[in-house]
Amino acid sequence: MGVTLDLSRAASDAAPAPAPLQNLAGLTRAKLQAALVDSGACPPEKARMRTSQIWRWIHHAGVTTFDGMTDVAKDTRARLAEQFVVARPEVVERQVSRDGTRKWLIRMAPGVEVETVYIPDVGRAGALCVSSQVGCTLNCTFCHTGTQPLVRNLTAAEIVAQVQVAKDDLGEWPSDREDRRLSNVVFMGMGEPLYNLDAVADAMDIISDNEGVALSRRRITVSTSGVVPELKALGERTQAMLAISLHATNDALRDKLVPLNRKYPIAELMAGIKAYPGLSNARRVTFEYVMLKGVNDSPADARALVNLVKGVPAKINLIPFNPWPGSPYECSDWATIEAFAAVVNKAGYASPIRTPRGRDILAACGQLKSESEKIRASARRKADQAASAPA
Ligand code: SAH
Ligand code: SF4
Repeated sequence: MGVTLDLSRAASDAAPAPAPLQNLAGLTRAKLQAALVDSGACPPEKARMRTSQIWRWIHHAGVTTFDGMTDVAKDTRARLAEQFVVARPEVVERQVSRDGTRKWLIRMAPGVEVETVYIPDVGRAGALCVSSQVGCTLNCTFCHTGTQPLVRNLTAAEIVAQVQVAKDDLGEWPSDREDRRLSNVVFMGMGEPLYNLDAVADAMDIISDNEGVALSRRRITVSTSGVVPELKALGERTQAMLAISLHATNDALRDKLVPLNRKYPIAELMAGIKAYPGLSNARRVTFEYVMLKGVNDSPADARALVNLVKGVPAKINLIPFNPWPGSPYECSDWATIEAFAAVVNKAGYASPIRTPRGRDILAACGQLKSESEKIRASARRKADQAASAPA
């Protein structure tokens, strides 16, 4: 009680902290335009033109100050800078793997940290794996993120910020460079994107805009553990390429590996996939299948897999399991994975094994976030020890 009174007194004595300035860098076009008009920095009759101009500076040129917007009048720039920022979140840690994979730990807000991974030579040039949530509400038993409670959904701006941070680091501004290394985006980082569809869709609108980062929607893939009721909305709203974390071909096993299966069993999932808007031979669904030793990796499992997806325009991606401390599974032996892949290959699916990338910096599938939490926990312990040590 006494503490509460002390705090309130301290708060009333101190000058009120200024509200943080709004960041324009992650707003959709419509929200950017509304912010500019509401602020008085831009008369409504010039709103479209001014929005386009500022939009290009942010998303095409990648500037992070209003001073960099050289064709905007000086007094307008000054007025904008009084009310807004065009800022990046803090990059807490940056790691580069022996194989060229890069990983950034990004602090969106105090206690809200996500990992983003760039993987070269994937897709047309290289893929950025972005997170949609901090933690996850689902508890897939092979996934480390699933053992961490959900902290919160990321905003569209925070999803876009992951792309901007990567482009800063890769030197990818302006966005129309011929030799782009960031050609694809995959929502395969932390979290279940279909539990945060509004933000994911807004973020896709921003990064696919032709006057900005201009990533084709056909190069943006959303991976889901199977939130069937949201599939139609995902396709209609975003035209994203779809990836499904399948991992098992019968309900008994999938119930255990992907507990969401108890809510949306395989038959419902397959029906939802077949109805995915825009699905065709040119726009196939990717089935992800994690290889777990002695669990789902027999030749009979491989045959069941090709039978299950028969008739669906599909690619198959076998993911060698990436172990984490205390994980209840092991990765299948290489020979077993190859035998499994041979069955899948014979059924007409080319190069189905996903080579693990960035394992030395814990950037591979299912390893995200875990290490940064460990580092934070040990750093906290050290700080606690230092604080309690006698002076
Ligand atoms: N939540 C979404 C997207 C993030 S997970 C989803 O589940 O689809 C991205 C992919 O990594 C999924 O296919 C997931 O099943 C897989 N994955 C999770 N943990 C893994 C691990 N330890 N080893 C290999 N792949 C893993
Ligand atoms: Fe969540 Fe995807 Fe991990 Fe499952 S695999 S716990 S849905 S992040």
